[in-house]
Amino acid sequence: MAAHDTEKITAGAAALGIQLDDEQASRLARHAELLEEWNRRINLTSIDPADFVPLHVLDSLTVARGHRPRAGDRIADVGPGAGFPGLPLKIAFPGTSLVLLEATRKKLAFLEAVTRELGLEDVTTIHGRAEGLGRQPEWRERFDLVTARAVARLNVLVEYLLPLTRIGGVAVALKSASIDDELAEAAPAVKRLGGGIRDVKKVRLPETDIERALVVIEKTRSTPKRYPRAGGEIGRRPLT
Ligand code: SAM
Repeated sequence: MAAHDTEKITAGAAALGIQLDDEQASRLARHAELLEEWNRRINLTSIDPADFVPLHVLDSLTVARGHRPRAGDRIADVGPGAGFPGLPLKIAFPGTSLVLLEATRKKLAFLEAVTRELGLEDVTTIHGRAEGLGRQPEWRERFDLVTARAVARLNVLVEYLLPLTRIGGVAVALKSASIDDELAEAAPAVKRLGGGIRDVKKVRLPETDIERALVVIEKTRSTPKRYPRAGGEIGRRPLT
């Protein structure tokens, strides 16, 4: 990836309130470059490489406008695909630890290659579904920040995210700006799962006209033991 892309990354991150050093900017650019290379062989993204910086890298960093990660935070990214938003967050906030929880095995090979090549520490990749992990004591209610982009409609997504979120932690869903219907539909599920919607933050992606909505949900009470349900059931019968 060309040097001017690292400049775009640095400027775009600054517009989102994140100061990157040169090494962080080149790591973010290298992730995008590796994605372009791998995507010729396996289908990881349908976005044009010319748009990787705004639509993958900077879009991922917007999560920090919903909840700014602090040193020591445990972050989980549910369904990261090629690593978004988890890997850019880990690179921009290196004092955190990250679990990438991905259901499609072929994507894990890419996530592991990026993690290795960039020398990222405290990144764990797990092959599995969020609802499976959310039932395991080792992972349940363990994360300070649980995030996801483009994985499911909000009423389904919250049953993946909230069981993993610790009490006092937050789940941040990256959504498109027109979120009102989804929000109203998901409100009862959020409550049942022990959460409360704290904020819906609208953020414009730097250098674009695209507006995002960050749904910030705080975990206020323990999730009842019967959740998350089995994957098929969550999708077939979202909580009402
Ligand atoms: N988050 C990435 C992004 O925005 O570029 C990838 C989005 S892709 C459309 C959805 C990803 O979520 C896929 O890689 C899929 O395998 C994964 N996924 C869907 N449901 C999941 C679940 N319940 N647990 C873990 N991963 C899941």
